[in-house]
Amino acid sequence: MSASVVTSLPGPASRRLLEQQERDESSARTYPRHTPIAVAGGQGSYLHDVDGNRFLDFLSGAGVLALGHGNPELIAAAQAQLNVATHMLDFPTEAKSEFSTRLLGMLPEAMRDRMKIHFCGPTGADGIDAALKLCKTATGRADVISFHGGFHGSTQSTLAITGLRGSKEHLHNLLPGTTFFPYSYCFKCPLALNPDSCQVNCVRYLENLLADPNGGVRLPAAVVLEMVQGEGGVVPARAEFVTELRRITRERNIPLVVDEVQTGCGRTGTWYAFEQYGIEPDVIVSSKALGGGHPASVIIYDERLDGWAPGAHTGTFRGNQLAFAAGAALMRIVERDDVLAHVREIGEFLRAGLDALQLNHAIGPMIGEVRGRGLMLGVELNPLGSWTASEVAGRVRMAALRRGLLFELAGRDDCVARFLPPLNLSRGEAQEALDILGAAFAEVSAEALGGAHVGRQDGSHEKEGIHV
Ligand code: PLP
Repeated sequence: MSASVVTSLPGPASRRLLEQQERDESSARTYPRHTPIAVAGGQGSYLHDVDGNRFLDFLSGAGVLALGHGNPELIAAAQAQLNVATHMLDFPTEAKSEFSTRLLGMLPEAMRDRMKIHFCGPTGADGIDAALKLCKTATGRADVISFHGGFHGSTQSTLAITGLRGSKEHLHNLLPGTTFFPYSYCFKCPLALNPDSCQVNCVRYLENLLADPNGGVRLPAAVVLEMVQGEGGVVPARAEFVTELRRITRERNIPLVVDEVQTGCGRTGTWYAFEQYGIEPDVIVSSKALGGGHPASVIIYDERLDGWAPGAHTGTFRGNQLAFAAGAALMRIVERDDVLAHVREIGEFLRAGLDALQLNHAIGPMIGEVRGRGLMLGVELNPLGSWTASEVAGRVRMAALRRGLLFELAGRDDCVARFLPPLNLSRGEAQEALDILGAAFAEVSAEALGGAHVGRQDGSHEKEGIHV
């Protein structure tokens, strides 16, 4: 199978559904605004639209579809469970029992015996919100520390600790007491330092402020951290940043919450990204791929934080049996097929291909930095010609979509092309994506530097309904 785009975008059948969606749904809808397709379904690494176009899917349902579309084993697990039970609140069931045992078994050995699971409502934001409540209860403190560029959800508490300013500009009375600190975004250091010579001053600043009786920051209930910022632009935390943060939080008895909603379940080449940093967090939040394609969200936390009374955190949809069955199957497959080693191998292959694009003299100037871990990769674009970095990124996304590669943007003003392919992506599919990206980058580069009259080599149509 390979990508194939046979209509202009959107095609006629997509256009009809997109128009209906525009009439029926809220103006907060996002993906179809910049990726103008209506979806028919998918198979493996490919997503099909209703016009017969086939796209290599490097979005994977925002990281939910860890094994791509229509994985037969995940489908079989959910189908079998459909006949047993679908929803059971927080009663114990066989499906939940297997899921919990496997999930605890995915933890580093030293952590297994002291961690507990709480099943939350089904979204990542539900998990983060639960983690904040847990840490507030356990510490008796009110405030939270999070980081510039961090993303933790769209509810009122999670937006409050999220860096994205635009989404909360007009929302008042979010969770009070959040302090943002600089993240180790070394490519554009928030402290304007050189990463080769700095002393990880970003985390040093946090430590100084917590120690400063006149610093104005109270001891927080939690520090919430992504090991690789996803929405923030695929920015892996620097190793010393994380180890120092762990030391500082431990010394001050501040629970460290790692948000593994996007990085978890193998995405970065280990089951959790924190494993690559050699630290042990106090709370792990996991969701997205966790339920094998079905909604699931958990917090896994050190039992010493378990100060919750019965019913302290409830939610109707915290017993999704289909997610337990499919999620357990996912973990089984990850172990059986050594999916994590595959993620590391294909991730390196893809990364090397992206690095090679940066070295290409025609494309290189538009690429600021290639970064990421495992199969969570990003390319930060530079401004080019008269276009800003985000205009360049938007045009690259559209040029790639016309050639059959679907991906999302992230980072400041969406200046990062972000790749979240299925974890079982084949080498051939990775190469196909690199070929498409190479052609898309070249087209946009030529347009930016040489005017708009550049022929497309892919035979795709010139007219499309959406210009980004
Ligand atoms: N945390 C991280 C790191 C995320 O990437 C996301 C979503 O993209 C969330 C939390 C929120 O998850 P959800 O959209 O399921 O609420």
